Amino acid sequence: MEIRYWNKEVETASPERIKEIQLERLKKIVAAAFKTQFYSKRLPAVGINSPDDIKSLDDLRRIPFTMKDDLRQSYPKGLLAVDTSEVVRIHTSSGTTGIPTVIYLSANDLNAATDLMARSITCTGADKTDILQNMMSYGMFTGGLCMHYGAERVGMMVIPAASGNTKRQVQLMKDFRTTVLHVTPSYLLHIHSKLPELGIPLKDLALKKAFIGAEPHSENTRKKLESLYNIDAYNSYGLSEMNGPGIAFECQYKKDLHFWEDSYIVEIINPKTGELVKDGEQGEVVLTNLIRSAMPLMRYRTRDLAYLHTEPCECGRTHRRMSRIMGRSDDMLIINGVNVFPSQIEEVIMRVPEVGTNYQILVEKQGALDRLVVKVELYPKMFLGEAKQIEQVKARISDELKASITIKPAIELHEQGTLPVSEGKAVRVVDTREKL
Ligand code: ADP
Ligand code: ZN
Repeated sequence: MEIRYWNKEVETASPERIKEIQLERLKKIVAAAFKTQFYSKRLPAVGINSPDDIKSLDDLRRIPFTMKDDLRQSYPKGLLAVDTSEVVRIHTSSGTTGIPTVIYLSANDLNAATDLMARSITCTGADKTDILQNMMSYGMFTGGLCMHYGAERVGMMVIPAASGNTKRQVQLMKDFRTTVLHVTPSYLLHIHSKLPELGIPLKDLALKKAFIGAEPHSENTRKKLESLYNIDAYNSYGLSEMNGPGIAFECQYKKDLHFWEDSYIVEIINPKTGELVKDGEQGEVVLTNLIRSAMPLMRYRTRDLAYLHTEPCECGRTHRRMSRIMGRSDDMLIINGVNVFPSQIEEVIMRVPEVGTNYQILVEKQGALDRLVVKVELYPKMFLGEAKQIEQVKARISDELKASITIKPAIELHEQGTLPVSEGKAVRVVDTREKL
């Protein structure tokens, strides 16, 4: 395999060199942080009175965590370190509830984020000869514009399709010979189920790759997409607070995501105690952005759960890899006292060959108890079969779930195209229990 690099020197730098870059950049970020309302109070409270107090990377640990709530309370300008005349772009989080959170980028910040996006795209082996159809929503959400800028920097032809309108999406893929998609895995699954009625067969498309991200998904979902479309699917991780996509990306080997450590310091902590976990152990991802000075953000608790690989990658990059996101510390379901992550359920149902491209998890009260219902769509041919066969599929899904999550859920089978679809991030869990 020919390995493609965007910036070979940085991507293959020694761990010591990466640490040097981190320290140098951290000092600059701390200096910027003193110009914000938020950190100018928070840093002195822990005895950091000037950027000179950051002498080594260990000093990062003296800085308290920043939480999503801190961002909300600082809305709109509490974390802004520069005059707005220096700002060239803002984005807000796609969160639908409560006060939004905002990020600000200066021209330099945007340039650095764009470069990292280009690095991410290149590490999958894609290049300027590729045609990228960007199916993430544009606007305040970072997934659209940030990928767009990065792909342009690579020199790709970019189709800013944005999300939704499946018919038009597939037509664009066909007419412009799209080779790479940027899309949520749930929407890409949905599109496949629509191909027969759109009358555009896969052989009319030129797809080679998909960058899938913005929502949790399992390895089995990736495999399913790869075989449905005959493409390579690369996991793409990001969050608006850290500039959006391009923070960690899979390389050509597709063995989990390289974290760009010259630009972000990643810590994995025990979400209960806040202590660092041991190497390779799962915990909450905490990030410090080293490439944004207009709005510094240090030790941000993402609530995403993952672990870091310690062994090197075959591609020669030295930046450590992160596992796929196992779930969020706030999406764990407690069902009659048993902890279940939606991702565990997805992992099981996506390996059942009869299961189609959509599913939903419902948790409800039945008397004093919780009841878990897993609704799955089956491929149309299943409904032409005998009732007995359908019952067997149902029993098999239920048994396999019991083996994985220890609870035996009720399984509802649905015809393809009947469960709710989202064109952006999928809503997989409906929990109708009253929250305490
Ligand atoms: P919001 O928090 O409002 O959804 P974002 O749109 O920035 O804001 O979403 C970022 C979140 O999306 C991440 O914190 C993570 O939970 C999820 N996410 C993004 N990419 C992935 C991915 N590749 N795998 C799993 N989850 C992801
Ligand atoms: Zn690699």
